[in-house]
Amino acid sequence: MTEKPDDWRMAGQEAYLLGVQLTWSNWTIPADNPNWDHDHCEFCWSKFGKAEASDAEHAGYATVDRRHWICLRCFHDFKNRIQWKVELSQQPDLL
Ligand SMILES: [Zn+2]
Repeated sequence: MTEKPDDWRMAGQEAYLLGVQLTWSNWTIPADNPNWDHDHCEFCWSKFGKAEASDAEHAGYATVDRRHWICLRCFHDFKNRIQWKVELSQQPDLL
């Protein structure tokens, strides 16, 4: 009973995230965009930033192109609905 169809975090992300490959990754500044200093979770808008940033998470599930980030909490809440592909060996310990 963890899935709620009317969850406020759901806003059409299935359109581009359904079934995609995700990789657990440390957040880093993109090599092709050195001025980019943070991203947000696609669902709850939690902030991701570099390791020195005290107000941000430092790792999460990223799409292969690293343009979309999903926090651990939202990953677990939505993984059954959105059917992401993740290699088991990459998953961190559960919260
Ligand atoms: Zn989130």
